[in-house]
Amino acid sequence: MLAKLKTWFSLFVPEGALLALTVVVLRLDALQDSLPDFAHFYPYAVFVVGALLAWRFQRSRLLFALLVLALATWSIEARVPSAAGRVAFRASALLLPLNLAGLALLADRGFLTPFGLLRLGAIAAQVIVVDMFARTAPAATAAVLGYPLLPAGLFAWTPLSQSALLAFTAALVITAVPLIFEINATGRGFLWAIVASFLALNAPRTAPASAIYLGTAGLILVVAVIEASYLLAYQDGLTALPARRAFTEALQRIAGQYAVAMVDVDHFKKFNDEYGHDVGDQVLRMVASKLAQVEGGGRAYRYGGEEFAIVFPGKAVEEALPHLEAVREAVAESTFTIRRRIRRRGAKAARRRPEASITVSIGVAAKDHRHANPDQVIRAADQALYSAKEAGRNRVRS
Ligand code: GH3
Ligand code: MG
Ligand code: MG
Repeated sequence: MLAKLKTWFSLFVPEGALLALTVVVLRLDALQDSLPDFAHFYPYAVFVVGALLAWRFQRSRLLFALLVLALATWSIEARVPSAAGRVAFRASALLLPLNLAGLALLADRGFLTPFGLLRLGAIAAQVIVVDMFARTAPAATAAVLGYPLLPAGLFAWTPLSQSALLAFTAALVITAVPLIFEINATGRGFLWAIVASFLALNAPRTAPASAIYLGTAGLILVVAVIEASYLLAYQDGLTALPARRAFTEALQRIAGQYAVAMVDVDHFKKFNDEYGHDVGDQVLRMVASKLAQVEGGGRAYRYGGEEFAIVFPGKAVEEALPHLEAVREAVAESTFTIRRRIRRRGAKAARRRPEASITVSIGVAAKDHRHANPDQVIRAADQALYSAKEAGRNRVRS
């Protein structure tokens, strides 16, 4: 239940909060006079700073998304009540969500690489084609883009044409579906940027709200890239547990008492040699998922290789022991079936043992007068781990 709530929460923070803040700012009476000036400055500041960040972080999708947003901001701001202006608006409303969703699906492939140049070319081509139609046949183009497939009365609430609504719906579905399976910062950023773009295009024509919403769409993407980069440093890619850097910093933050357990997979090298590195990786994921469920307020980390650590804030060794026994048992009781695809590769070994049992050894120590700082506690836990191995493995020692 709590985990479900957390998952939902992580869908809305921080991007949803940024968007909500924008909605509030746009409605505050005290700010109404300064909003037009703000609208001339804010989106472009976001686009420029974001572009610098995209370049330094090598995030080409961010750069292209900001370019698309900047083009939309510019074409909406320059909108005049004419047929050409309608083409610019309707084309932006149709192409902006589709471009953002397209970028959400792609991978970062660099700026000045064939992939990057192709994407840049695709964006430039859209600008050129829209501009050409706006110049040569504005009325006809505006009519085509605004052609109502369904009764127009159904859509009186929005200035968007039905083609744009369809594009936004498709874009939202395309970006939301992968998040059902796995929430990731970048995907979430694109989803919320599309929502912000939708609000931008629904704002009244002369209001500063459009540009401000588009600036927030850019800011959302920038924040998502920063968060993804943070996770790159602090989360282990294989097991999704927090990584060693997070472990070290967590220990430095704890002020009072705590216990640390070091966990090591037994005979893992033999396992790796026998079944291959891929199966070894699967084992690590399985072990990590068991350790992540540790109770008693413990938090599991991947320390490195086949070693994990569990931190129990506020706990003494004796208080941590039963929870460590429980995870040790949980690992030992899980049977690990070698997947068929891999089994064929290592056929001989696997036929002998299609189901393998995995165990871990655990050493635990706590902060006390002998071990005052984290390094000393870790060393003591390591020594306890060593004695658990010596004593025959698959056990907890303190
Ligand atoms: P012990 O019971 O004494 O711990 O024996 P062990 O074989 O587990 O100990 P050892 O430390 O010698 O072996 C660790 C092995 O873990 C060596 C290395 O090949 C493997 N390993 C380290 N990191 C990874 C990883 O990310 N994936 C895989 N598949 N194997 C890894
Ligand atoms: Mg080891
Ligand atoms: Mg080992």
